[in-house]
Amino acid sequence: MQASNTGDTNTEPGICLEVRNVVKRFGDLTAVDHVNLKIREGEIFSFLGPSGCGKSTLLRVVAGLENQDLGDVFIAGLNVNDLPPYKRDCNTVFQSHALFPHMTVAKNIGFGLVERKISKSEIKKRVAEKIELVNLGGMEDRLPEQLSGGQQQRVALARSLILEPTVLLLDEPLAALDRKLRKEMQIELKRIQREVGTTFLNVTHDQKEALSVSDRIGIMNAGAFLQIGSPDEIYEKPRSIFVASFMGATNIFTGNVVSKKDGRIEIETPDGLKIFAPEPEGCAGDAITGFSVHPELISLESATADAPPTDPREQTEFHGKIKEVFYQGDFSEFTVALKETDMLMTVHLTRGKGYRTQLPEGQDVTVSWDYGSNNVLTG
Ligand code: ADP
Ligand code: MG
Repeated sequence: MQASNTGDTNTEPGICLEVRNVVKRFGDLTAVDHVNLKIREGEIFSFLGPSGCGKSTLLRVVAGLENQDLGDVFIAGLNVNDLPPYKRDCNTVFQSHALFPHMTVAKNIGFGLVERKISKSEIKKRVAEKIELVNLGGMEDRLPEQLSGGQQQRVALARSLILEPTVLLLDEPLAALDRKLRKEMQIELKRIQREVGTTFLNVTHDQKEALSVSDRIGIMNAGAFLQIGSPDEIYEKPRSIFVASFMGATNIFTGNVVSKKDGRIEIETPDGLKIFAPEPEGCAGDAITGFSVHPELISLESATADAPPTDPREQTEFHGKIKEVFYQGDFSEFTVALKETDMLMTVHLTRGKGYRTQLPEGQDVTVSWDYGSNNVLTG
């Protein structure tokens, strides 16, 4: 680790966790690569990225379970570089909850307070509060093995929250649960966080989970953050090919800006497809590398010979043939082979009003979408 900075403080108001220029290497592998990050008081911030991108390593550096090779970590304004995990003002909930198997729910939850030498009556009161918080009323005397996976995770949460940390670190706490229970616990996680107001730093590789529980998301790849923003910013305005494809904007085109007028830019792909997109603020045209469009924003119609031409400045329209249809229940995914190029596009049609079941494989179709749905990529 670099020269000690303990005692150094960082008192920027509203920021309860700061990571400054942190690097963590394992031999030749740089797991965390010069990361800077500020997490606000009271928010749920998620690290989202593929397996192996460095999410857990960064969380473990914050917790003090790994020592960084370079950089600083501040919790509640205090540089904690040289503090061991138990002296840092944070607690961690892991995927495997590691409850004490021979202790009841109540004893597990109160354990940390016993260690802190708090009076028995005070412990009893606080344990009862936390049991209510996580909805485990009536289960105080059960042993962990008598609980479901979701209930065990509630105990783990209560056991950490009772210590009133400034930041609660959560490393994929819901990953081992089945889909339905995971959804239920995502809602619970957010409700509990809103009730206690503690800052949550949540690690996940599940896009849907990050979108539904977070105030802000940091998309990680190869040890670095590629984009940080609110769930709707990350989903609707991914800035790079990686983020767009990771968030499911499967229609990604590379291209250059060929014209710029009236708040619109025109992008041309190497195959000669041209589209218009809203001109992004504060972005030089030469930084633009292409565009993306989400499959659910695209309309799909049978091609008709006498269709009136559309204004490309308002509507993007391509022609193609349906290659494959994947039935998904609530929606169907169509793969369309474009006539203009050898690219494939993905279109999602949600079951409901206007849903067309009569578009078979091999059908000639027109795909179209509002020009404003074209999201400009810069990396
Ligand atoms: P994530 O949590 O995003 O899946 P990790 O932070 O666990 O990723 O791992 C990041 C990279 O660091 C991976 O390539 C992983 O194999 C490597 N790594 C993690 N911990 C160690 C370790 N203790 N020793 C060596 N390599 C490690
Ligand atoms: Mg991990």
